[in-house]
Amino acid sequence: MSGSESSGNTRKPHLDRGGRWGFSTLAVHAGEAHLKPEFAITDPIFCTATYTFADSQAVLEYLQNRHTREEYGRYGNPSEKVVEQKLAELEGGETAVLFSSGMAAVAAYVLSKVRAGDEIVLVDECYHRTRQFCCEYLGRLGVVTRQVPAGNYEAMEAAITPRTRLLISESPTNPHLSVIDLERFAALGRKYGVETMIDSTIATPYNVRPLEYGVDVVLHSCTKYLGGHNDLLAGVLIGSAEKLEPCRKIRGVIGLVASPHTVYLLERGLKTLQLRMERHNQNGLALAQFLEAHPRVEKVYYPGLPSHRDYAVAKRTMRGFGGLVTFLVKNADWRETARIVDRVRIPRIGPSFGGVESLIEQPMLMSYHDYDREQRTAVGIPDNMIRVACGIEDTADLIEDFRQALEA
Ligand SMILES: *Cc1c(COP(=O)(O)O)cnc(C)c1O
Repeated sequence: MSGSESSGNTRKPHLDRGGRWGFSTLAVHAGEAHLKPEFAITDPIFCTATYTFADSQAVLEYLQNRHTREEYGRYGNPSEKVVEQKLAELEGGETAVLFSSGMAAVAAYVLSKVRAGDEIVLVDECYHRTRQFCCEYLGRLGVVTRQVPAGNYEAMEAAITPRTRLLISESPTNPHLSVIDLERFAALGRKYGVETMIDSTIATPYNVRPLEYGVDVVLHSCTKYLGGHNDLLAGVLIGSAEKLEPCRKIRGVIGLVASPHTVYLLERGLKTLQLRMERHNQNGLALAQFLEAHPRVEKVYYPGLPSHRDYAVAKRTMRGFGGLVTFLVKNADWRETARIVDRVRIPRIGPSFGGVESLIEQPMLMSYHDYDREQRTAVGIPDNMIRVACGIEDTADLIEDFRQALEA
């Protein structure tokens, strides 16, 4: 959205950056211009692959000062810049780089930072595709990935060598919802001069902001809570402009860009992030408490329950504990567990989480179907495990639904 004087548009921002705005005010307004093309209150979808120049002089001026306009779709789109700034401000970071998916963000991040012979330290409960990308694909190129157990900081420290370039974790993790002590994690990175990255998809910037604890880079799959409506795929990296410059560059080279339509949906979804997270947090906690008290339930994993291993860290660092709840059914084989999944009426069966619609899955059948029993045991996925992604439905309806499914 450069110039466009004919529509009265200026790029004057609607809210000054660095003001003392609350989270939801930022979610609605941050990154957006005060006046937009044709005075519309929404940002347009710029459906364009390329951008044109008035004359050769305009090309020369662009080359001297690249930041004032766009050139080609793989390098940027005006609405993408709006949503990137909104995401940066929500996370409390200097800059954000948007990608076509969470995994595109993971791949771009790691690829832009390592070369053959370098090492990565990765927490073993990370998203299975992140582990696959690092171990299998980067392994082929001579990058070594050392996996360490979530919550074991001694093992993490011991895994760091002079060749370590990145320390990567998720927090909370999926499906065990382990919570990382971000201060300890960031301190380890600083001690050894290793860049730290947290995949904060499950937390969202509403529940925790890892940069405030000294973590270098935050990653989100925007497909989940940030988009919030199960209708888009996108990913983002947030941190300092210096740390993210190589990631922006590789995005433009490989073309891991989000489509203009996706960018529109993401900006729209972000506006209600706080409202949605308040309900996701409320539903997650209420369902976790209900399940923990139920005689048919063996164990519940939810960081907001005092019984969770990382409750103290979660309570200290998180505003809420999110909508994901994992539990084990008492004395049930995989068939009996599947029957409970099938009896639940509100959540549909499916992978993913973070949308307004609740979802349910049995990890052994869904996310871990390509693991054999031995591999599943190694990563802590028993047959009687169910993962619920609470949407924003009425809390009482969700609890009643699980009651009937467990007691039928
Ligand atoms: C879904 C997810 C990803 C991958 O994101 P996509 O948008 O599906 O590519 C990465 N990390 C976590 C924690 C996720 O939940």
